[in-house]
Amino acid sequence: MLKFDSSHKSVDIDGFIRKYETALQKIIIGGLIITLLSPIGIIFAKTRPVPCDIEGDHAHLYIDNETKIERYIESERKIVDGLERLEDYRMITEEESDLLKFENKNGLFRIDENWNELQTITQEQQSHKKEYRYAYEETIHWSTPMKVGKGWTVIQHSKNVTRHSWTTDENHEGLTGEERDIEYVYQGYRITKNDQGKYEVEQSGYVSNLQNLPEGYDYIKKDFYKTMSPQTEEILDYEDGPEVGDREVTQQELNEMMQENSSEQVQTEDTKVL
Ligand SMILES: [Zn+2]
Repeated sequence: MLKFDSSHKSVDIDGFIRKYETALQKIIIGGLIITLLSPIGIIFAKTRPVPCDIEGDHAHLYIDNETKIERYIESERKIVDGLERLEDYRMITEEESDLLKFENKNGLFRIDENWNELQTITQEQQSHKKEYRYAYEETIHWSTPMKVGKGWTVIQHSKNVTRHSWTTDENHEGLTGEERDIEYVYQGYRITKNDQGKYEVEQSGYVSNLQNLPEGYDYIKKDFYKTMSPQTEEILDYEDGPEVGDREVTQQELNEMMQENSSEQVQTEDTKVL
């Protein structure tokens, strides 16, 4: 069964990488002077082309294994944008090829071609009316540069932090007792051609059901849903943000601080020289 609670994080690898890149630029400052998240190894599976003897222009069908939604892509690779190639393919004209390229560049999936899967997902979502807050422990790692004599070294730091998120699972571990009302809302996309004959994409507002999308909004992206507060109609957040008393700094601020402080940065308890 699909899970839509804590799976708001990390299941979408593209989203995860994007989030990680953002995290690299937002540095949390707390009791420690400067923190810089150290890179973690993400293995990018750059797969080799799959043998194919189909002649003429064609696109293969690819599936998102988490949601089971699919789209055609002109590629001979096994994995494209996290989607896995299936047996199906279709022949395409030059015009269809242009449209497919645009759809793929924008991460768009056709609603009509994925209707059954989308119905399954949205019906499951709409059965949930409440979310429960839970706490979990996480170890964060980061490194700071330190000047040693005439050279530099890198100091590794780590710290355990308590973070919170929201789940639809009433029996989730670490529940805090807080709860909130939720409603799932959806967004679609429309492809149009501009005066120069170039494709453009427009996003719809939020609707309570995919059937309620305005005319012409025939596409969704993989993250096509959000949760909304029925009381305030605000889109709800799952992110924790910094711990109380900490703040986030930009990469530029960090660079400035690194220039100002060099050796002072290491005067914290939980540091060790590599
Ligand atoms: Zn092929």
